[in-house]
Amino acid sequence: MTDVWVNETLYPDWGQRFLVKRELARVKSEFQDIMLFESTSHGRVMVLDGVIQITERDEFVYQEMLTHVPLLAHGAAKRVLIIGAGDGGVLRRVLQHRNVEKCVMVEIDGEVIRLCQEHMPDVAGDAWTNPRGQVIVGDGIDYVRQAEAGSFDVVIVDSTDPIGVGEVLFTDEFYHNAARLLSDNGLIVNQCGVPFMQADELRETSLRRGKFFPDISAYVAAVPTYVGGFMTLGWSAKTKGLRDVPVAEIRRRAEAAGILGTTRYWTPEIHVGSFNLPPYIAENLPG
Ligand code: SAM
Repeated sequence: MTDVWVNETLYPDWGQRFLVKRELARVKSEFQDIMLFESTSHGRVMVLDGVIQITERDEFVYQEMLTHVPLLAHGAAKRVLIIGAGDGGVLRRVLQHRNVEKCVMVEIDGEVIRLCQEHMPDVAGDAWTNPRGQVIVGDGIDYVRQAEAGSFDVVIVDSTDPIGVGEVLFTDEFYHNAARLLSDNGLIVNQCGVPFMQADELRETSLRRGKFFPDISAYVAAVPTYVGGFMTLGWSAKTKGLRDVPVAEIRRRAEAAGILGTTRYWTPEIHVGSFNLPPYIAENLPG
């Protein structure tokens, strides 16, 4: 039998490919083409519109950094809003934090949720049924438009890239409403792509975020299957200073939240260090 490979089509002239052990699902939803397969190298993999979204083997890097950094930098987040993240991995990490009282997740594509529940159940674990979590199938832009002012402490955007259904999550309207629904010392993080290959994504969202938030930056994580070097996670806070919390205090907060010792990428030192940007990345930030 000949080998079957899945080629990622994110870039027209460069990419990664996976050897397929078994195809699990191929669905055309109302919003995107969804494919899940079992690879020989990275466990189960989900692809949306030809772009690798998550692999079982390295999802912890991205999910831990997207969740623990904002929650522990804030230090007292009780109400968390997640946009996208249909695999449930961010929801699971948020609900690990003892002090979080409520976490609302808004994912546009119910098929992504259903397929991940069926084929990648370990990514979310028992988060789907946690009484502190609420999962809404809907467009993130509609949710933020209607959300009450000051009703969340942290917003986490785990979206696809700014093309197709994900595009609205990178607009002025989205950031304006995100700033409005956050409490006074609230903050929002969002995936900003791999700047070595997608510098425009970081540059453009940073300019937009800067219109609505006084503290704009980004932090990095090395996610093996988001190829091209560091991935950037955008940082937008309503107050300054939240990204300058010292290592010892981050460790104390992580211990109190029940996070210390549970992670495979995030540590207090990596948390603080991740805000130190190589110049080729920093040059995409305003100022
Ligand atoms: N963690 C992986 C990553 O960042 O590559 C997976 C991200 S994937 C789960 C991103 C999710 O965002 C998709 O399931 C997609 O359906 C969802 N999404 C895209 N646009 C959205 C919108 N406007 N509102 C809510 N969710 C959206």
